Amino acid sequence: MRIAIVGTGVSGLVAAHALHRDHEVTVYEADTRVGGHANTVDVEVGGVIHAVDTGFIVYNDPNYPGFTALLRELGVETQPTEMSFSVTNAGSGLEYRGSNLNTLFAQRRNLTRPSFFRLVTEIVRFNRAARRLVVNEPRWQASDRLPTTGGDDGTSDESIEKFLRRGRYSQSFVEQFLVPFGSAIWSADPSTFTRFPMRSYARFMDNHGLLGLPGRAQWRTITGGSRAYVEALVAPFADRIRLATAVHKVVADPSDRAASKIEVLTDLGPERFDRVIIAAHSDQALEMLADPSASERSVLGSISYQPNTATLHTDARLLPNSRLARASWNYWIDPGGRRATVTYWMNALQAITSERPILLTLNRADAIDPKLVLAEFEYQHPVFDLAAIRAQQRRREIQGARGIYFVGAYWGYGFHEDGVQSALEVARAIRDER
Ligand SMILES: Cc1cc2nc3c(=O)[nH]c(=O)nc-3n(C[C@H](O)[C@H](O)[C@H](O)COP(=O)(O)OP(=O)(O)OC[C@H]3O[C@@H](n4cnc5c(N)ncnc54)[C@H](O)[C@@H]3O)c2cc1C
Repeated sequence: MRIAIVGTGVSGLVAAHALHRDHEVTVYEADTRVGGHANTVDVEVGGVIHAVDTGFIVYNDPNYPGFTALLRELGVETQPTEMSFSVTNAGSGLEYRGSNLNTLFAQRRNLTRPSFFRLVTEIVRFNRAARRLVVNEPRWQASDRLPTTGGDDGTSDESIEKFLRRGRYSQSFVEQFLVPFGSAIWSADPSTFTRFPMRSYARFMDNHGLLGLPGRAQWRTITGGSRAYVEALVAPFADRIRLATAVHKVVADPSDRAASKIEVLTDLGPERFDRVIIAAHSDQALEMLADPSASERSVLGSISYQPNTATLHTDARLLPNSRLARASWNYWIDPGGRRATVTYWMNALQAITSERPILLTLNRADAIDPKLVLAEFEYQHPVFDLAAIRAQQRRREIQGARGIYFVGAYWGYGFHEDGVQSALEVARAIRDER
């Protein structure tokens, strides 16, 4: 079949990888480079060039089985990374750091402040309650991390907000731990993060070993930056990729699924395909459809995205004041702020040695010395509220219904493995069509 794939993030590329041997695949990308959120850039610091990741950075073997298998197949080199987390509360002066995400608050010897001790006690209580919610669920194997219709997600799932109220958790716990941690992981707005459904949150955290149980996954990065895997992945079908070619519209003709009836419109003119896989974000996909069905409108329209500005720079003032509190992920509580404000210490994450620290900061561009800015990027992240989780469960209703499929990390938790699993699921569906 002639198959068009729109978008070269991990989802589009994995779909192309799975289908290009058996089908005539054409891949469209609006940008001038492949990779989407896998975006490594070269920067010069102190006269040395470093390859720095500015989007996708880390993964781990147990929770990324599809991605890990892909890296193995491609022979891509990876390395362990350090995943520590700190919180700075500019208002109260509190700065704390967990040496390891999995055992964030195991360092009880540091608990000198009674308020901090109370915070840790609440974290332990919350983690225990969250674990209880999913204690009988099997661990994710692969595509089961994408919710399905009729699954046990239960559309009546309560929000984190309601769960917190029911458990009488303190404002301090919510503001100084729960929101910073969740907001950092999902680059989510702190003001709305607690709308996230509690069971989905608990499932994700439990599977990633982030509910306080020791001995879970070792996080890793791609040696040389994520572009190393992107280059290896696209090599066999690089000649099928059209860069700087945005798809304006996808026009389906429901009268005849058998013939090449789906039209893809770009500046190059219309082209016809048997199947189209849209690997852009849900809102972009909906916008691309010339005549969306009621289901496509309701499912894709319920999963929204929010913007985040990422600044790559060398301004050390964006790290916590105390050197001891500096971690690979540093969350800054913005008093009254609406957006996630995290600084990734790229030296620690990618084992980079440089004269000045290389930092990637989300949503605090105005605090950075403009002379120390290396680059700036606008990214979008999916928003996971109850409407989105319900829409995810209905994805099979729209997949392939008009010869058009939709892949993307937004079908799961918004991470690389979700993109991989969503692409593999659609590749299987296309194979099974015959
Ligand atoms: C700063 C940051 C850090 C992150 N860190 C991690 C991490 O450490 N680990 C992790 O697992 N995940 C991380 N993520 C999440 C990341 O978003 C996902 O892992 C994943 O890369 C998303 O892939 P995708 O294929 O769904 O979308 P994208 O990678 O966004 O790809 C969509 C593609 O579609 C293209 N496109 C859009 N519209 C059109 C059009 N009209 N025509 C043609 N092409 C179009 C876009 O240009 C883009 O290339 C991070 C994200 C960000 C932004």
